[in-house]
Amino acid sequence: MNESHHHEAIAPNRLRVQVDQSRCKTDGSCVRIAPELFYFTAFAKKAALRTPEIPLDMVDKCLEATRKCPYNAIIVTQPSRDDAAQDSSGSE
Ligand code: SF4
Repeated sequence: MNESHHHEAIAPNRLRVQVDQSRCKTDGSCVRIAPELFYFTAFAKKAALRTPEIPLDMVDKCLEATRKCPYNAIIVTQPSRDDAAQDSSGSE
């Protein structure tokens, strides 16, 4: 039997990551650990995310970078499916 799961486009467990720009001290460990995810912005010289939603195969690296940020500047959230749906309303 081929039981089909009805998946939405947005994975429910997709991590969201942000860098707190006021905390980041540009020491660069996140960029060294996960250059696929983090880069330094040209003007602010702070770390930023290439994509706010972390691909599943990058989650481990992302969490390692988060743990190793000396300033706890990397913020990881795990939105529920409902949160993800609300994001698209853009009511802010
Ligand atoms: S590890 Fe933390 S402080 Fe260092 S560049 Fe990345 S976000 Fe900024």
